[in-house]
Amino acid sequence: MSKTIAVIPGDGIGPEIMTATLRVLDALDCGLEYDFAEAGMIALDKHGDLLPKDTLDKIARHKVALKGPLTTPIGGGFTSINVTLRRHFDLYANVRPAISFPGTKSRYDNIDIITVRENTEGAYLAEGQTVSEDGEVAQSIIRNTRKGSTRIVRYAFEMAVKKGRKKVTAVHKANIMKTSSGLFLNVAREIAKEYPQIEFNEMIVDNTCMQLVMKPEQFDVIVTTNLFGDILSDLCAGLVGGLGLAPGDNIGEHAAIFEAVHGSAPDIAGKGIANPCALLLAAADMLDHLGMVEKGTKLRQAIRDTMTNDRDSVTPDLGGKGSTESFGEAIARRV
Ligand code: NAD
Repeated sequence: MSKTIAVIPGDGIGPEIMTATLRVLDALDCGLEYDFAEAGMIALDKHGDLLPKDTLDKIARHKVALKGPLTTPIGGGFTSINVTLRRHFDLYANVRPAISFPGTKSRYDNIDIITVRENTEGAYLAEGQTVSEDGEVAQSIIRNTRKGSTRIVRYAFEMAVKKGRKKVTAVHKANIMKTSSGLFLNVAREIAKEYPQIEFNEMIVDNTCMQLVMKPEQFDVIVTTNLFGDILSDLCAGLVGGLGLAPGDNIGEHAAIFEAVHGSAPDIAGKGIANPCALLLAAADMLDHLGMVEKGTKLRQAIRDTMTNDRDSVTPDLGGKGSTESFGEAIARRV
């Protein structure tokens, strides 16, 4: 049975890496149909709207979207489209896998960490940011709720079970932020009891940063609040050689959007040298989400094989002489 997904090619290098990604998905023969939708600069130019209603309707209808990077114009009061999408669809879980790949420049070669970041509350509430009338005092409120903490921690444990992971680490700062971080930690401790098959530990965020750099192999799944997750997931991307290989999954109860973590890379757009792997890895996560776990695993393996055995085809950011197209074709041949 075929499944239709919304496809948003996006801005800058977006259309180039999306073409390569769809080519690989077609080669994988996973029965997907694509309903193309516009967002970002292309939508602003054509329809005067960065995020047209038609695009939101398509995501709502198909419940799953694969999205290229979107440029948010600087100034002019534009809200980030990504933030708008997260809010609109209540995409509460931001899942960021960091996996070592052969042939990438990194100090470590055996990293496999998934950060599960709460994506809707914590320190990032728009209404929680205030400045006094005289401009002398600025204040940000951190608001964690039992409901928000419960659903993110449960998501992390359920994901750990489904993916055969062994350990979940709850990262917090409850020693100082006793109320907000304390609530999150208490919820994590409670929910951990429901999953005796998964090892649970808790770690203060500053120590976590040091441990990640010194002994990253001790981590498996990290679950944490919005701000800490934002920072730690980039730290983990750095452990495996940067954002070029970092997918980001935004999951809600009614929709899920899969994307690369990097942006639209205007400096290399149109040159045909963008690395398609972050979007391809997001597509692999999407296949897992759609219940096609074997296809997702096959895709990751094909990327790994290409990086190991076909160095000529990989893009310049990974030290190769290839193009987006040659890299995509080499992966497509191996799926
Ligand atoms: P960027 O991630 O686009 O680029 C940073 C650097 O990494 C650049 O040198 C770029 O060439 C390189 N790079 C990024 N992706 C690459 C790839 N696939 N292959 C090879 N090299 C790659 O970050 P930026 O320049 O700060 O942002 C550009 C635009 O992207 C901004 O408008 C920003 O708002 C937007 N952005 C969008 C998203 C998203 O849609 N999820 C995320 C981040 C930034």
